[in-house]
Order: sequence, then structure tokens, then C-alpha cells
Amino acid sequence: MKKSEDGLWYKCSACGEISYHKVVIENYYTCPKCKSNFRIGSKEWIEILAEPNTFEEHFSEIKSDDPLGFKDTVKYPKRLKEIEKKTSLSEAVKCGTCYIGPFKAGLGVMDFSFMGGSMGSAVGERITLLIEKCIREGMPLIMVCASGGARMQESIFSLMQMVKTSASLKLLSDARIPYISVLTHPTTGGVSASFAFLGDVIIAEPNALIGFAGPRVIEQTIRQKLPDGFQRSEFLLEKGQIDMIVERRNIKDTLVKILKILYKKT
Ligand SMILES: [Zn+2]
Repeated sequence: MKKSEDGLWYKCSACGEISYHKVVIENYYTCPKCKSNFRIGSKEWIEILAEPNTFEEHFSEIKSDDPLGFKDTVKYPKRLKEIEKKTSLSEAVKCGTCYIGPFKAGLGVMDFSFMGGSMGSAVGERITLLIEKCIREGMPLIMVCASGGARMQESIFSLMQMVKTSASLKLLSDARIPYISVLTHPTTGGVSASFAFLGDVIIAEPNALIGFAGPRVIEQTIRQKLPDGFQRSEFLLEKGQIDMIVERRNIKDTLVKILKILYKKT
């Protein structure tokens, strides 16, 4: 998907159709012609899932540190500052509470535009604090995932976030509070190997790339050609790794239906 400079027109990278922005928004940021999903961030997801004006952000004060003094072409803190400025986001996940239909819920949404939605210590900490809030207040948890995996600039500290988020989700499960994860394109690496796949119900968007290592790495390692559609939502549904594929426009209604079954308190 490409947006024109004035933001009024979108060009679909799958079919080439050019659409007026209002039409794209009415279609939940999908191509009106071929139904391809355009990449969206936390702002758009919150508009789609939360009841109007009910989202309250929490834990935005939690920011990444630079425990390793990491530098590639630029120093990590400088990179973070540049991305913050470019994206107007403070990290790769936005966490808060909102109403989804009649249910008050914890909602965490990842932003792929912030360092590829990578999970560093701030992302892990925000999600963990959100899970703990859900346990304290008896609220269901919804996570919308989009990630390239762990954040390499924080190395082992990023990997520890997999354990931390998984351990707190076990406490949420012990408290018998439902957790639904929504996997969007792409959900890979350490995020798919932790909280993304720990949902009581796992929903995926159509044709999303979901997996741990990328297909090229796997092909090179096992020296075999991978089957068509490998690591796409439809393939994963067939193999039983996710519970359902839901079009973006129906995700909110689906969440409400599931919560009505799994969670009685309204
Ligand atoms: Zn299209």
C-alpha cells in the first residue's frame, strides 16, 4: 500500500487500484477492489476495535534503555529518538484499557512502523504491566500483534521479554480471565514464540505471514522447497495452529461474541 503525499489517495500494492482515502477507511483499510489488507498501526486498530473515546493509554512512560551501549550505524538511543520523531510513537506497542462492545478490556496493539514492531524491554514491560492490570481488575485481554521479533539492539534483554510476558499470561490464565490474540501481517520471531501464540483463542487476519524464522532461512537450513502458502494464515488454520481467520471488518464483532462465551461479567 502506498499513500499519496497529501494522504488523500492509496495505491494497493497487490492489484494497483488507486482509491480515495475515505473509501479505504470505510473499508477498514483494505483495498476495495482485491480486499488486500493495508498495513495499519495502533491508532487505526484502536479506532476499529475500541468504542469511540473509551481508549485510555497506560504505561507510555516506560521507554527503552540502552543496557548494552549498542551501536550499529548509529547509537541505539539516537535511533530510538529518530524513530519516535518519525512515527510519533513512543514504542512498538501501545497498551491501555477500553470498551469493546459491552466489555471493558485491556488492549495492547503493536506498531510495525516502530523498528519493525520489535520487542525490547520496554515493549515486554508495557505488555506485562497490562496483563497484571487485567489480573487485578478482572478484565479480559486483547493483543493485536505485528512484529519482526525480538529487538537485536537489546540482545538477551529482548529474549527475556518472551519469558516475562509468558509467565504473566500464566497468572492471567490461573485467574480464569480470557486472553484473545489477533495476529496480523507479519507476526514472527520472539513475539510469535511468546504471547502471540498463548491466546485462549487465536485469530488471524487473512493472508498474514505468521511464523518463527522466515521462509528463506528455513529453506536454506533444511534444503527443501517449502509448500505453497507456507506460514500464511490459511496454511496455519489447516494445520491447526490458529483457531480462525477473520476479516478485519469482522474482528470486533468476533471478539465480542467470544467474550460473551468465555467471560460472563459485563
Ligand atoms: Zn488491491
